[in-house]
Amino acid sequence: EEEEEEEEEYLFKIVLIGDSAVGKSNLLSRFARNEFDNNSKATIGVEFQTQVVEIDGKQVKAQIWDTAGQERFRAVTSAYYRGALGALLVYDITRRSSFDSIQRWLQELSTHCDISVARMLVGNKCDLENIRDVSVKDGKCLAEEERLFFIETSALDSTNVQTAFEIVIREIYSNMS
Ligand code: GDP
Ligand code: MG
Repeated sequence: EEEEEEEEEYLFKIVLIGDSAVGKSNLLSRFARNEFDNNSKATIGVEFQTQVVEIDGKQVKAQIWDTAGQERFRAVTSAYYRGALGALLVYDITRRSSFDSIQRWLQELSTHCDISVARMLVGNKCDLENIRDVSVKDGKCLAEEERLFFIETSALDSTNVQTAFEIVIREIYSNMS
């Protein structure tokens, strides 16, 4: 076990939360495998994917957890949140209701995780500017009110996906040192 600890200095658990179909699974597959799937349905039972990121010359292993569609039934379990050091709260910029749900996701997060959890508000699908339903300003305002990082992403064209995860990983890292 000691050997393992030496090899993996840092292991950060990060959870993806947000309404169904906002693009959580595609953000993860874009980040971890540089893949996008138009028909991604919650079929695969994979709980998380790991990605190694180098920060300050240190290998940081990010373990990103994705729901298997439980969010549809509002039944994301406490095991999902357990030990999480970071969270991406994802909404779809073309669907206002998914933005309105963020407050509920924040509440759920706060009941399961420590207040020090690194939190990033993510407005996904920014490639769909023509049917935007949530302004950048609204996203920024909510983020300021709730003290969250904020970014808009597109899992489809890759915009800011790497950056979104890296900001959270860096924040967790800096909270530790
Ligand atoms: P999840 O339920 O939150 O995991 O959402 P999915 O990743 O399964 O994505 C739901 C739907 O939105 C799928 O049809 C995806 O192809 C689509 N989608 C996901 N991300 C994007 C994006 O950045 N842009 C666009 N245009 N579609 C996306
Ligand atoms: Mg999914």
